[in-house]
Amino acid sequence: MPFDLPQKVMPVPAASLKFTTNEEIDENYARLTATFKSGETRSLPYRRKQLLQLARMLQDNHTAFEDALLADLNRPRMETTVSEVAHLITSVMYAVENLESWAAPDPCPTKEAWRSSWGATLYKEPKGVVLIISPWNYPLVLTVNPLIGAIAAGCPAVLKPSELVPTFCELIASLIPKYLDPNTYAVIKGGVPETTHALALRWDHIFYTGNSRVGRIVATAAGKNLTPLTLELGGKSAAVVADDCDDLDVVAKRILYGKLQNGGQLCVAPDYALVPKAKVDAFVESLKKAHEEFFPEGDHPLTGPRPISDIVHPTHHAHLVDLLHRTKGKVVFGGQIHKDKSIAPTILTDVPVDDVLMGEEIFGPILPILAVDDIDEAIRVINSKPIPLVIYLFTTQDELKHKFLRETRSGQLVVNDTIMQLCVHELPFGGQGESGYGMWFGKTTFDVFTHRRGCITVPFSDEPFFQGRYRPYTEDKYQAACAPGKVKIPDE
Ligand code: NAD
Repeated sequence: MPFDLPQKVMPVPAASLKFTTNEEIDENYARLTATFKSGETRSLPYRRKQLLQLARMLQDNHTAFEDALLADLNRPRMETTVSEVAHLITSVMYAVENLESWAAPDPCPTKEAWRSSWGATLYKEPKGVVLIISPWNYPLVLTVNPLIGAIAAGCPAVLKPSELVPTFCELIASLIPKYLDPNTYAVIKGGVPETTHALALRWDHIFYTGNSRVGRIVATAAGKNLTPLTLELGGKSAAVVADDCDDLDVVAKRILYGKLQNGGQLCVAPDYALVPKAKVDAFVESLKKAHEEFFPEGDHPLTGPRPISDIVHPTHHAHLVDLLHRTKGKVVFGGQIHKDKSIAPTILTDVPVDDVLMGEEIFGPILPILAVDDIDEAIRVINSKPIPLVIYLFTTQDELKHKFLRETRSGQLVVNDTIMQLCVHELPFGGQGESGYGMWFGKTTFDVFTHRRGCITVPFSDEPFFQGRYRPYTEDKYQAACAPGKVKIPDE
């Protein structure tokens, strides 16, 4: 299909999104709980079938998903395909291929020979009925990727996509029951009141992706029921250009690529850049050059035929415009604003470390550049902020990577590129501190929704070994019990 296909799905205005009622939320919960209790979702052929159906749903509706995100975010088809639809099809098929090995019990070999006959084993069991709450910025991948793990683990799941992408929300709500077993998977359409109602129910796991303010609300609700929780939050992910980096054209291209995906509204977008003072001017020139390549003559980022994504909502747009008005930094490129809609890629220099742009995650196509004296100053800036989701380090020195591993903290450390860590299904992904907790991706998402249930079988024939543990306690029994604790501890 051509990438310039006209949009076919009709946009759904936010006001006409029909929200799920509290009664319907309760009915969904009761139905899914009954299904879980029936044991049906434990069967591997059942899980495999649902995963294949999910892959079919994505393939059959590839263009419809692109259309929905064109309608809600004005996002180019290319970006939706790369980061959502095609990515997810690979992710489902990866789960299908590995389902049996992921779900197989893990034997736990024991050190002591006499315990080896007990057959210590971890059995993989579905946790139960789970709730997946996702945000608007990558609504498909952030709803369906956790769902893949839930299905693979054998968990019924309720999906709560963001109300800020109404066309997508209607689409996924109509497709899930068509492709998947409606007794096991359901979608709640709604905003704060509906999510609040859902959060009061007792789930067996909650998977939340979004901002940290709401993350705290979700964690409080989960805590009331001791519900295990995964929090995938955001933060200010720095891009650091080291002194040794000479190919600034490639560095700038890679940073600008990561910054402009979805109009900068990506949790792992490089939020700001830390650049050696002597390299700032050359780096800005390289960014301008990269911009010229990305948007050649006639392909303007705001008014051209393939503009960058819109800012999701007028309030988010107003917030970004306000930051641009209040910053002490100097706009050296871009800065054009399309009223209530989008913002051109904007680069600023002379940005002080306490600037308004250095407060919260920017989440827009604005790149502040902070000039630093050396790499230690860059590390100090990063460490003065809450722990980010990612640090991007551009260097040719392996030693610098180790310095960053030792002296900074982040969900991930990526050297010499941006956002490509998301392509590695085998690499668990997650934040730390303010950027969240819990990991996912590939098998790790299966693990999120799986309880690893330990099991041993103690033979009756071992009874002679146990005489020392029973009452009456005696000096001999006590000395025998002390013996393992007398092991020699090495000096170093
Ligand atoms: P959002 O406003 O769509 O909210 C996320 C979800 O929370 C939605 O489903 C929404 O309905 C629900 N919600 C909102 N307010 C609520 C409340 N008071 N009580 C209960 N539920 C509520 O999305 P957002 O938070 O603006 O998403 C953007 C944020 O998500 C950014 O900070 C970004 O970095 C982060 N993010 C993180 C990841 C990751 O993988 N770590 C991925 C994408 C986005």
